[in-house]
Amino acid sequence: MANKKPEIEPHELYDTVLVLDFGSQFSHLLTRRMREFSIYAEMLPCTQKLSDLSWSPVGIILSGGPYSVYEEMAPHVDPAFLDLNVPVLGICYGMQELAYRLSKDNVVAGTAREYGHADLKATRVSGHVDRLFEGLEDNMRVWMSHGDKLAKLPEGFHTIAITRNSEFAAIGHETKPIYAIQFHPEVTHTIGGNQLLKNFAVNICNAKQSWTMASFVDQTIARIRKLVGPEGQVLGAVSGGVDSTVAAKLMHEAIGTRFHAVMVDNGCLRLNEAEQVKKTLTEHLGINLTVVDASVQFLDGLKGITDPEKKRKFIGGKFIDIFEEEVKKIEDAAANSDRAGKIEWFLQGTLYPDVIESISFKGPSQTIKTHHNVGGLPKLMTEGHGLKLIELRELFKDEVRELGRNLGLHEDLVMRHPFPGPGIAIRVLGEVTPERVEIARQADFHFINMIREKGLYNQIGQAFAALDPSRAVGVMGDKRVYQYIIILRAVQTYDFMTANSYPFDSDFLAEVATRITNEVAGVCRVVYDVTSKPPGTIELE
Ligand code: GLN
Repeated sequence: MANKKPEIEPHELYDTVLVLDFGSQFSHLLTRRMREFSIYAEMLPCTQKLSDLSWSPVGIILSGGPYSVYEEMAPHVDPAFLDLNVPVLGICYGMQELAYRLSKDNVVAGTAREYGHADLKATRVSGHVDRLFEGLEDNMRVWMSHGDKLAKLPEGFHTIAITRNSEFAAIGHETKPIYAIQFHPEVTHTIGGNQLLKNFAVNICNAKQSWTMASFVDQTIARIRKLVGPEGQVLGAVSGGVDSTVAAKLMHEAIGTRFHAVMVDNGCLRLNEAEQVKKTLTEHLGINLTVVDASVQFLDGLKGITDPEKKRKFIGGKFIDIFEEEVKKIEDAAANSDRAGKIEWFLQGTLYPDVIESISFKGPSQTIKTHHNVGGLPKLMTEGHGLKLIELRELFKDEVRELGRNLGLHEDLVMRHPFPGPGIAIRVLGEVTPERVEIARQADFHFINMIREKGLYNQIGQAFAALDPSRAVGVMGDKRVYQYIIILRAVQTYDFMTANSYPFDSDFLAEVATRITNEVAGVCRVVYDVTSKPPGTIELE
């Protein structure tokens, strides 16, 4: 039963573009772009042996990657990729790999490296640009990130676009549908990049545009049922955020109460959060949920810890302890009942951007940062408890939201701002005490309510109130006070990788300050953080 493949794989139902990943930070964007065109795409490591595939792709994209093709350790594609006789598009490293395969002296280290914008000019032959550039401006702004380059045109190819520093910015084969480009069409900085990828997939590969989010739901449910079998039980952690709720809802649709959701109340949740999540998940969505109140253990353990990383580590570790205890209880209950299956599976329901850095080809795609959601828990549950991993993590935030709507999740939940795993503990700067958590929680409640009242919630990527434990002097009712400072933070962001502070009008900020100082005892100052990311981060710790 273990790891048995489901009967119907999406690549058997839909025309599928195969993305071979050489470890670029943007590889996942390629599959995402394909989904935007209603085309199914599957990403596999670049070293995939192609004769092992049980299906045929309609086209192959070779991604970018951090290596240089001529390095000893550089990864290489199975040479059979050209024998499949399907269209090929090489991007950056993918371009260099394609050229290197044809002849090793085709690629060299460049003297003029290109990072950032470049102006691309598509070449016209008898008045026409190549069909890869159909519908695009002759001059387009593209985004580059490379040090190596083609030394010469590989045999059988011609140039279809140039930039000032790249004589071979895009090349195409004279007779076959084989293309290679030095820039990255998958990033939003490349204007018209989407159209180029669509030209490749739709016009050149002839992929049928039949994939939909609804079909994704059906597919995923079928996949879960096949994997888990008629009796298997699955365990998963939920936080009340949209990602884990969507994952839990899919599990519930697939296997009902054989999915066990566990939520740990670490004492640092938002106001009324535990009750609200319980209500939504159990009453509204029918999910089998256990809420564990471990707030005392967390708050006790946090005493005296001031370093942000130590706080995160403590909370992560404690979470795992509590989760393990709970697993034991669920397992004992299952063993003592006439329920057949033991818990065999652990659900990993995180978003793609959370895992980009840790799952790309051969581990790190040049590690950027690790993420609390993908930290120790899955490893412990799989290696430590012998559970098998179910992964639902190929989608991006906006896609997860669309999926959530498809599954009937309430709009408020679908649009909910992200909330960090350690919660308010990292929004109280320095030492966490129950009093400080309560003050930050109350301030956050008022701030978010006022944002909602103004109708601004959905325009903001993430907003919250944090507490600065250094105090300031104030005057209240003619009396001198010496109290905490609340820091408000609200950012606009496309992908949470970069962000700007939200431009509230000053009247609104003044109203928030009044409400918080009036309603929340212990606060006499409110400030607004106007730092962008970078150099700031979204959270303060
Ligand atoms: N490492 C290669 C270079 O510097 C490819 C880079 C990439 O794919 N972005 O040219």
